[in-house]
Amino acid sequence: MHEFSMAQQIFSIVMKVAKENNVKKILEINIEVGQLTFLNPDQLKFALKILSEDTIAQDAKIRIEIIQPEIRCNSCKYAGKISYNGPESHTIYPIIFLKCPKCGSTDVEIIRGKECNIKNIKAIRKEAT
Ligand SMILES: [Zn+2]
Repeated sequence: MHEFSMAQQIFSIVMKVAKENNVKKILEINIEVGQLTFLNPDQLKFALKILSEDTIAQDAKIRIEIIQPEIRCNSCKYAGKISYNGPESHTIYPIIFLKCPKCGSTDVEIIRGKECNIKNIKAIRKEAT
């Protein structure tokens, strides 16, 4: 399950950051997910909920923002957002066919949309002792 392993990675980073910053309670976890990761945001959220049970993140609000893909075209130098209308594939190795919206070339580089980032975390710190 693609979402669960991604959730585990995200969660371990969140916990590491929380520890380094002396956090006692995590209030919010904001995540950006590129559309081309083919992660299902609901499943990702669900997996994170399971992982955060009985931890300092158990009441945290999890927000997932989907990032639209951006490309750079090697033929006409167009750079910018594209709309991806292909299958919301959940195959293990999705093959992505992207076309430049300006000239139709398939010689494009993906510059955004394949990433999965933790945007920010809201938390309460422990009182300094
Ligand atoms: Zn082009």
